[in-house]
Amino acid sequence: MGRTPSFGRTPEGLIRGSPFSPNLKLSALAVNGAWAFPKDLVDRFPELALIRPPNNSIDSLVWIPSPTGAYSLGHTICRIDYYHLPRHWHHLIWNPLSVPRCKFTLWMVVQGRLSTMDRSRMRSVNGSRVCHFCELVNETHDHLFFACNFIRPIWVHIQSITRFHAPPSTWSDFVTRVSQQWARRDLRNSVRKLVLSTFVNKIWMERNSRAFTNQKNSQMILLRQTTDLVRQKLLSQNLKDSPFARRLALDWELPVSILRPPAEPPD
Ligand SMILES: [Zn+2]
Repeated sequence: MGRTPSFGRTPEGLIRGSPFSPNLKLSALAVNGAWAFPKDLVDRFPELALIRPPNNSIDSLVWIPSPTGAYSLGHTICRIDYYHLPRHWHHLIWNPLSVPRCKFTLWMVVQGRLSTMDRSRMRSVNGSRVCHFCELVNETHDHLFFACNFIRPIWVHIQSITRFHAPPSTWSDFVTRVSQQWARRDLRNSVRKLVLSTFVNKIWMERNSRAFTNQKNSQMILLRQTTDLVRQKLLSQNLKDSPFARRLALDWELPVSILRPPAEPPD
């Protein structure tokens, strides 16, 4: 029947108040290659007039943000960026150095929109909502990404590598603070944002691994997964040689040979 966009309404919502039965199939509304929607339905839902006429091709799902109709994280992120006004933490997310999937996780975390135990219907075996790391405190965004006793020592180590020290506080205070202090666009802050997004993504992946497969990695492995991805990303950059780049190479165990010599001044 071709590419049919969704308008965010359930089929039940679409036919509520109309003469159609809940078992109605879309094909029943196609007559001689054209839609035969009743006028009162089109009056209620003007979007129906935008649906392309049926063309006898096979039905398929269409990812509207992508021009090809196929799912693409890049186009999804562009759409999110387009539809949301900048916020104080905006630049933490849209850092060119950060990995797209890590940006997406951080974007969800700063808005408190991940399905942590306090927000989802999920319960552990004994019916509790406790954190999958410490198994002591109820799982919230603030606890999981900042306050948890399992996570905090890794945070301290990561802050040491990035030479940024945030005293114990709350996740939202931390986000507000780094949004202000990392606002300048330079390599130092780009690396810090890369580390932040990578670590947050690894925490969430480890949490899901524990929640759904009962596979548990140690703090050391979680730290190594984070630093390995950051190193990998830095190695792929064409970094210009500078005192800061050399310190960065030292901190992240990168060979100095990857640093690009500064351009020769013109004769
Ligand atoms: Zn915990």
